[in-house]
Amino acid sequence: MRQARLTAPKTIEWHDMPSPQPGPGELLVRVRAALTCGTDLKTYRRGHPKLQFGPFGHEASGDVVAVGRDVKGFKPGDAVMWVQTAPCMQCDACVSGSENLCERIFDEIALGAYADYIVLPRAIVRRNVFRKPVGLSYIEAAFLEPLSCVVHGWNVLRRANAQRPLPPNVAIIGAGTIGMLHLLYAKHAGVRATMIARSAQRIELAQALGAHETIDARELEKAAVWPRFAAVIECAGMFETWRQALALTRPGGRTLFFSGLPSGSEVPLDATRIHYEEIACLGAFHFTPDDVRETRDLLVAGRIAVRPLVSAVVALANLSDVFERLDRRQGYKYALIPEPGAAEWV
Ligand SMILES: [Zn+2]
Ligand SMILES: [Zn+2]
Repeated sequence: MRQARLTAPKTIEWHDMPSPQPGPGELLVRVRAALTCGTDLKTYRRGHPKLQFGPFGHEASGDVVAVGRDVKGFKPGDAVMWVQTAPCMQCDACVSGSENLCERIFDEIALGAYADYIVLPRAIVRRNVFRKPVGLSYIEAAFLEPLSCVVHGWNVLRRANAQRPLPPNVAIIGAGTIGMLHLLYAKHAGVRATMIARSAQRIELAQALGAHETIDARELEKAAVWPRFAAVIECAGMFETWRQALALTRPGGRTLFFSGLPSGSEVPLDATRIHYEEIACLGAFHFTPDDVRETRDLLVAGRIAVRPLVSAVVALANLSDVFERLDRRQGYKYALIPEPGAAEWV
C-alpha cells in the first residue's frame, strides 16, 4: 500500500509498505475518499504544535477490509465514516461531560488518511466510527469531522442562551470551508446568516449557498457605523477579526471565537461592552461523541449539502500538487481518491 507522509514543512513523501493487520479492537479500512482540511494545510506550511510530522491526512471514509479481535458491530465489506479522535472517558474533562477537552484526545489519533489503507484504533472504533448508508457518497461522508467541529460550535452557542437557544441572525467572519459550513448549518437551522468575506469569489459562493446577505470585509472596515448581530462566529483566525467579532455583536448577544490564534496571543477586547451589554464571549474546540452522532444524522438525512464545497476530485497520486494549490489559496477542499484510474465522485 501507499501512504503519504509529511516529513518536513512542504515535503510530502510516499511510503510503500505492506498493509497492516488490525490489532485487538481495531479496524483495517480501505480508504475510498479523503479530504484536505485547513489543519492539514497549517501543518503542511509550518508544522503543528499538537501533531507530529508523519502519516498525513485525517478526513476520510472507506470500506472495512479486516476486523481485529473483539470488534463488535462491524464486518469486512461495511462502508464506514469516522472522526480521527475519541475521548478516553476517564479523565476529569471526560467525566464532567466535556469530552472535547479530553486530556488524552490526541493520544490515539488516526492519521494517515492519504493512503490506500488506514488502521482505526480501538477507542475510535468503539465510539466514533459509523456505518455509511449507500445513499451518502464517500466524499460527503468524509465531511463528518469538519462538520462535527461546526456542530459543536453551534451547541456551544445554544447552551449560552437557555431562553432562546438559536439566535435570530448570525454574522460569520471568514469564508473558508469552516465559515461556509457554518453558513450551511445556519441555513438548516433557520437562522439568517450574513457572510463577511474578502474575495469576490468567496462572496459569490456564499450567495449561492444561501447567505441572507454578504458584506465585503474591506467595505466594512471603512464604514462609520457597523451593523450588529445577535450572534457572531469568528472563523478568519486574525487578531483584527477577533476584535471585529465583538464589535459586531449586539447587546445581549453571543460572540463565538471559533478559530484559533497562535499560542500566547492576547487580544484586547472592549471590557465595557462585555460587562454593560452582557455579551457572551465563547470559545469552541473540537467535538464530543454526541456532536459527532448529531453530525452523522445531519449528513445521512441530507440536511447539510456539502457538495459545493468540494473544489475538485483528484487522484491521490496528485496529493503534492493539491497542497501546492491550497498553499496558493486556490480552492476550498479537495477530494482525493486512492482508487487507480480516473478520479471521479464516489
Ligand atoms: Zn479536519
Ligand atoms: Zn478524557
